[in-house]
Amino acid sequence: MTKGKLIVISGASGVGKGTVLKRMMDRQPSLTFSVSATTRPPRPGEQEGVHYYFVTKQRFEEMIARGEFLEYDAHAANYYGTPRAQAEEKRQHGHVLLDIEPAGAMQVKQKEPEAVFIFIMPPSVQELERRLRGRGDTPEDQIKMRMERAKWEMDQRSWYDHVVVNDDADRCAEEILRIIGA
Ligand code: 5GP
Repeated sequence: MTKGKLIVISGASGVGKGTVLKRMMDRQPSLTFSVSATTRPPRPGEQEGVHYYFVTKQRFEEMIARGEFLEYDAHAANYYGTPRAQAEEKRQHGHVLLDIEPAGAMQVKQKEPEAVFIFIMPPSVQELERRLRGRGDTPEDQIKMRMERAKWEMDQRSWYDHVVVNDDADRCAEEILRIIGA
């Protein structure tokens, strides 16, 4: 069997990537999700090894030193990274979805030119801010920081292979599945 592709999906915090990715995996069970490591504390409902591997800063820096990351980045005051071995193992079973931001995505592009890069846009910037507040789990100073970051991220979409709008999670999931031919 040929190796699955890395499908890199980016989009500003609050754009609804998590829901879109879940809908994609519900429809296409051969897709797997690359579970990132992060130093950010878990949000309510987030499970170790499902949403993230929650690690200390020291552990993360050890993983960097050992070259264990396909890519990593520090943003929103935390580290986030893709453990390389896990992504490679999952590729033996089909396409692997990576939910990562543009700085990390660019590192993947340099190392894995065959990967597919998809950027998810909100219907509008106002809608993004509304969704970010609506989630109710992000303090105000972080909302401001994330909106600034979102504007920078959205500027990066020009180098992605495909840009899709999340006006509806089901429709958006279908569109990405068509793009990746799953
Ligand atoms: P959150 O803290 O809301 O779960 O994620 C914040 C941002 O980190 C999102 O834009 C998400 O795509 C990004 N992210 C999650 N995992 C990784 C990773 O492994 N590497 C990089 N570069 N970004 C990640």
